[in-house]
Amino acid sequence: MSFSPPGKTLTEPEDLIAAGFSAPEQADVLAKVAARYSVAVPAGVAALIERRDDTLGRQFLPDPRELTILPHERADPIGDDAHQAVKGLIHRYPDRALLKLTSVCPVYCRFCFRRERVGAATEGLLDAPALDSAFAYLAAHREIWELIVTGGDPLAVSPRRLAELSARLNKLDHVKILRFHSRVPALAPERVTQELIAALRASGKTVYVALHANHPRELTAQARAAIARLVDSGIVMVSQTVLLRGVNDNVETLAVLMRAFVENRVKPYYLHHADLAPGTSHLRLPLEEGRELVRTLLGRLSGLCQPVFVVDIPGGHGKAPAGPDYWRREGEGWRVEDWRGKSHCYADPAGPKSPAS
Ligand SMILES: *Cc1c(COP(=O)(O)O)cnc(C)c1O
Ligand code: SF4
Repeated sequence: MSFSPPGKTLTEPEDLIAAGFSAPEQADVLAKVAARYSVAVPAGVAALIERRDDTLGRQFLPDPRELTILPHERADPIGDDAHQAVKGLIHRYPDRALLKLTSVCPVYCRFCFRRERVGAATEGLLDAPALDSAFAYLAAHREIWELIVTGGDPLAVSPRRLAELSARLNKLDHVKILRFHSRVPALAPERVTQELIAALRASGKTVYVALHANHPRELTAQARAAIARLVDSGIVMVSQTVLLRGVNDNVETLAVLMRAFVENRVKPYYLHHADLAPGTSHLRLPLEEGRELVRTLLGRLSGLCQPVFVVDIPGGHGKAPAGPDYWRREGEGWRVEDWRGKSHCYADPAGPKSPAS
């Protein structure tokens, strides 16, 4: 297999200006943004950015508007802290726990919901005592059926470390599913080596990789090949996408993206309303607009291409489906809207309830 060489990662406003991605007159204000929220654009990602103000590039290039923080935005937008069982382990739902294995990513997204916690200035990998506590907690909580490994980007961690994690997990019989959330297969596909895949699979669990991708151009030939290596190895893949202003906020782009996932054996899973992370309002759509976009996708695209539109409720209350409603009560039955927007009656007379079990 041949991969493009990694090359230099752009991390400073001067690098971005030299590359032609940012305006020279913004050097000072971008330095303020970069001091607050990490910037990293690896060479492979820079190659995908076509020009200043590119739709794909808006995800990664710092913007002066990031300094505008609205009163309802929060440092911990989805309330991870409220459910932190031990350091790095969030146990919000009974049957699944989430491990923040690392706080670094190969590339930093400007809309990141953990932007206050990830970045170059953080500790990086979860330290050994924290990992011991997390495994002690997992061992003691037999209701945990699934472990979700996230970060940061867990697939940026070395295969050796990931293999250690898998080996420890292998001993926990009650954990059946191991799920990694990552941007690596798309944005750093050269990291998806047979060694990495073997490390992910070493747990003996059913392994899922949830690919985070928001723009169709992220799915390059190299990305598609990396996805194929994962899926061919027996790993199941699903997608998650964040709905972003100026990146993917139209039906055409979403349709191409969702179809590209399905064509590459990645089942669309979630479309996220952008979280209320600080300094991200310019990238967020009003909820109403997101709901309308999702409504338009229905019927236009195969059922395989339909993600669930979700909002993470601030305060740690979990995700709630946010898609449009098609049903409302009418008399004894319902009124339902079809994919063309036409409305129909649906008879649903009150019948005997099923016996209580
Ligand atoms: C999103 C999330 C999960 C996973 O939720 P799913 O609906 O199963 O994808 C689990 N734990 C936490 C803390 C989360 O934020
Ligand atoms: S890859 Fe994920 S954790 Fe990392 S910056 Fe992007 S959204 Fe945040």
